[in-house]
Amino acid sequence: MDVILANPTGFCFGVKRAIHSLETALREHGRVYSTGSPIHNPQEVSRLERAGLVVVDSVDEIPMGSVVFIRAHGVDSSTYSYLNDNNCIIIDGTCPFVTNAQKKARDLSAEGYVVLIFGDPDHPEIRAIKGFVNGECHVVRSYVEAECYCNREKIGMVSQTTQEEESFTEAVTVMVKCAKEVKVYNTICKATVERQNAIRKLASEVDAIIVIGGRNSANTARLVDIAGSRGVDVLWIEQADELDRTWLIDKERTGIAAGASTPDWLINEVQILLSNL
Ligand code: SF4
Repeated sequence: MDVILANPTGFCFGVKRAIHSLETALREHGRVYSTGSPIHNPQEVSRLERAGLVVVDSVDEIPMGSVVFIRAHGVDSSTYSYLNDNNCIIIDGTCPFVTNAQKKARDLSAEGYVVLIFGDPDHPEIRAIKGFVNGECHVVRSYVEAECYCNREKIGMVSQTTQEEESFTEAVTVMVKCAKEVKVYNTICKATVERQNAIRKLASEVDAIIVIGGRNSANTARLVDIAGSRGVDVLWIEQADELDRTWLIDKERTGIAAGASTPDWLINEVQILLSNL
């Protein structure tokens, strides 16, 4: 059986950078706190917990003076203040693309724009970006929701980094038609789109695709949907021991793809297992 790996796949730049900082901090300090999972991958979180990571639900649970990791999605400015006031050592894993979106939203607000953030209101990245804005700010999930703010004089727009460009453009177009003044920063990161395009290409070359990633990972779920819509057999697993060998019978060319929060070691385990069949 031929096995083809999607390219690019697995860890994006921001997650790779964040996990590298966390691993360095664990080696230096032994114990590091994180509010919420540092990454949407249970196996990688377990590995990091064995190395000294402590995941808590809220900053109130972090003892004074602790070492605290901030995940790639970022946190709002009040969390930085709280941690500084409690003499915590901050290991900032916020992705530079997310930091850019936070700064642009803050600047738009300071310039007097009503800020519209395009994205999922429940996503931690959006809550963090919103926390950097002092003035009026709304999160919109579609151009229909954006239209509600047409009566504002000055509209400033940014996007959640993982949104689809077409949908953001639709919302921007609506605002340009109805508001007097619109200032837009395209804060979408290419990593998600590149991984989605890679699995589309892979689907045209193979008859089955194994997608590796956490069941709690939205970007992995999206890869599964895309592969399924291309008419290939798709199997979603978190790790190699979930691989159903009967599923592989009669497959001549099998592809492997992974979500942006899937570490290389989990991908390698699947590759090794397939090469030994
Ligand atoms: S998807 Fe993009 S913005 Fe998000 S962590 Fe990865 S590189 Fe950064």
